[in-house]
Amino acid sequence: MAKKKTDTPEHTPVVNETSLSFFEKYINNASPTGFEWKGQEMWLEYIKPYIDEHYVDNYGTAVGIINKDAEYKVVIEAHADEISWFVNYITSDGLIYVIRNGGSDHQIAPSKRVNIHTDNGVVKAVFGWPAIHTRGGEKEEAPTLKNISLDCGATSKEEVEKLGIHVGCVITYEDEFMVLNDRYYVGRALDNRAGGFMIAEVARLLKENNIKLPFGLYIVNAVQEEIGLRGAEMIAHHIKPNVAIVTDVTHDTTTPMINKITQGDLACGRGPVVSYAPAVQTNLNKLLIAAAQKANIPFQRQASSRSTGTDTDAFAYSNGGVPSALISLPLRYMHTTVEMIHKEDVDNVIRLIYESLLTIEAGQDFRYIR
Ligand SMILES: [Zn+2]
Repeated sequence: MAKKKTDTPEHTPVVNETSLSFFEKYINNASPTGFEWKGQEMWLEYIKPYIDEHYVDNYGTAVGIINKDAEYKVVIEAHADEISWFVNYITSDGLIYVIRNGGSDHQIAPSKRVNIHTDNGVVKAVFGWPAIHTRGGEKEEAPTLKNISLDCGATSKEEVEKLGIHVGCVITYEDEFMVLNDRYYVGRALDNRAGGFMIAEVARLLKENNIKLPFGLYIVNAVQEEIGLRGAEMIAHHIKPNVAIVTDVTHDTTTPMINKITQGDLACGRGPVVSYAPAVQTNLNKLLIAAAQKANIPFQRQASSRSTGTDTDAFAYSNGGVPSALISLPLRYMHTTVEMIHKEDVDNVIRLIYESLLTIEAGQDFRYIR
């Protein structure tokens, strides 16, 4: 059958079998905010062949560097941490109450299996929930931090402690990576470890295509984004970059119960999302859009009031102002254990970052008025 002619450009795949198997391992490893080092080790291991050297700061932000001696510095950045819970209170009956570490969603907790991370390794537990039969009354009670608790199969506080569980242990969900309909990657905390994966893939493309950049490239996998962009804040001051291109996820707004009037119209499969926000430097943003158009990469647009809520803000407002921009990956069901991203969007975000880097000149001045 003859190939159909369409307006949409032919898709260029980037992720290959080897990189996909790294992505799967990287997603299945837990990387709770403040406790990201195991994932950072895996990430550095993957990226090492594609960089000249690396650096890890006191809180675990990992940086791969190409052309360290160059004066002009460009950052590409994602965040490495995943939302989780903290053990907060262990009852005398051996039940465990939790608090959030990042924007963990209490609504999805009931009936989930979890991993409690202790010094002796992972201890399993479940978020229990009263049976439908026992929930009398006209009004259903919604899950909140006051009524969800973990059951690790112990019947006393002492027994819980014997398992190695104490206040301050972090908790992640069990759910692992899968591919849905050969079209979507699904898993917990694709927000934003997909980003860490994508910037690593940019480094791979640069190496494989033998690209010599005219500036220093800092590939930054930052910690502690989920509690307020903290890792990016720290590393921005350390690197003092001239330009920062950040990638994170954004909401696909085409699934039920999301209001396009307030959330905009964005969908998985329609390409990377560029952002309009005061923190996004317009001349840098125009460079990204021109790169997308030149390379035939589909893209979508999003506007944010006040802040982008991503590490873009941390870079933009550091060091007296760093020209920064955001390339987002559309994602369904954010902060659940079944986050979904489109395979083609992943390829296209990688391509867009890569193509943008190829058009940045050493010493490029992004100021509006000179
Ligand atoms: Zn998040």
